[in-house]
Amino acid sequence: MPAPNIDTIVSLAKRRGFVFPSSEIYGGLGSAWDYGPLGVELSNNIKQSWWRWLVYERDDIEGIDSSIILNRLVWKYSGHEATFHDPLVDCRECKTRMRADKIEGKCTNCGSTNLTEPRNFNMMFRTILGAAAEEDDPAALAYLRPETAQGIFINFLNVQTAMRRKLPFGIAQIGKSFRNEITPGNFILRTREFEQMEMEYFVKPDAEHLQMVDEWVELYLEWFRSLGISGENLQLHEVPADELAHYSKRTVDIMYRYFPERAEQERQWEELMGIAYRTDFDLRSHSSKPADEEGKRVNPDSTEDLSYFDEATKQRFYPHVIEPAAGVNRTVLAVLMDAYSEKTNDKGETRVILKLTPQLAPIKAAILPLAKNKPEIVGMAKAIKRSLQPVLRAVYDDTGGIGKLYARQDEIGTPLCVTVDHQSLEDEAVTVRDRDTWEQERVKVAELAEYLHKRLKATSPVQPVAPATNLDV
Ligand code: ATP
Repeated sequence: MPAPNIDTIVSLAKRRGFVFPSSEIYGGLGSAWDYGPLGVELSNNIKQSWWRWLVYERDDIEGIDSSIILNRLVWKYSGHEATFHDPLVDCRECKTRMRADKIEGKCTNCGSTNLTEPRNFNMMFRTILGAAAEEDDPAALAYLRPETAQGIFINFLNVQTAMRRKLPFGIAQIGKSFRNEITPGNFILRTREFEQMEMEYFVKPDAEHLQMVDEWVELYLEWFRSLGISGENLQLHEVPADELAHYSKRTVDIMYRYFPERAEQERQWEELMGIAYRTDFDLRSHSSKPADEEGKRVNPDSTEDLSYFDEATKQRFYPHVIEPAAGVNRTVLAVLMDAYSEKTNDKGETRVILKLTPQLAPIKAAILPLAKNKPEIVGMAKAIKRSLQPVLRAVYDDTGGIGKLYARQDEIGTPLCVTVDHQSLEDEAVTVRDRDTWEQERVKVAELAEYLHKRLKATSPVQPVAPATNLDV
């Protein structure tokens, strides 16, 4: 049973230290969120899983970390200055401002159909570089990147030559992106500052590009399921031709059921990530050589030609690109919603259990003393925590009775609790309690690290995904 709605996760996230509303002491800042002690761990674990999967486990992908602020010309030639906008409408009755493509001709606030004509609004955040620059100096204008992808394209040649790569190969990057969204909202689903995990996979011009999109879709579905997201809550959406981004020939979105409380036909789904075939658009438009019909250079500002020489065929060309672009924050939300469950205890009380996979759980094992006023028990529990820490993320907690401590660990997704009791002082053994079954097992302290390691490695079964459908979203 996943979370019934996003609000359930908002309150759990605040109560238990995953995500806090940002700037709250000053009345907040619309749709900005801060990651707390457990949220930062969860988000790091997701990013690490992605990096390991693509950069370490495959042999054809390199990682980079490029600047957030790039030369303004990058955004000119990428097409973002001219086309990265959303259609904006205002309600003439209540003055609410909305994205025209996200509403059905009606104000989302008051229901009125008395709306202004849509007009384009560029979503890139502007800033001014240099202490001496005037506010309106065009030479000092710069943008915060709205996607991490361009930092990859402009480094294509650097990575390819430094790492002596041959096609096909990919470049992966994780980092913050910024978009001045017209209607941010729904917790961390749509914010103005967010984090992306993007990968550009460079291939030959005659590769089976459209089919490669499907292949990457399948790989990502598998990865999301390995994070514990149920296949039932994932759907595919083939983006219609008239809605494709300016660089895309085909895009398939992987959608997550972020709004299970809504009726099936009422937008239960929202994009978790997109997989796009970007053709050779970006590498070509950042290159110095391409010319128009009159022989004039299309990009007179670039000093490099980002083409590739294929030794086998002795041909030079601009590589084509398949791009899986995922959001860290939307993955965090999907993982939290899918892990949420409730269970009734012997006393008829409802308990929340966050069934995170061990690889994503912020804390892998909590070491709890049964009696915190017994120095021998406390000492033994703390020593166990210290001995486990090099092997796995463990915490020591004595801030309540054992029932309360178990409930708290269940709610933050800790797979295993280790309890030190009076008996432990005699038999050098502890009780290990399972988060999901609440079953307990007695384990010798000498064998504890290996035992926990084995238990945590057992992965959750992967469930089949629903067949691809073209949702009306
Ligand atoms: P949407 O249609 O929801 O605005 P998009 O199609 O513009 O998203 P992309 O440009 O494909 O998004 O970006 C890739 C991924 O980055 C998205 O699938 C999403 O996970 C994440 N992302 C994009 N915009 C935001 C945002 N404002 N807040 C959080 N994550 C975002």
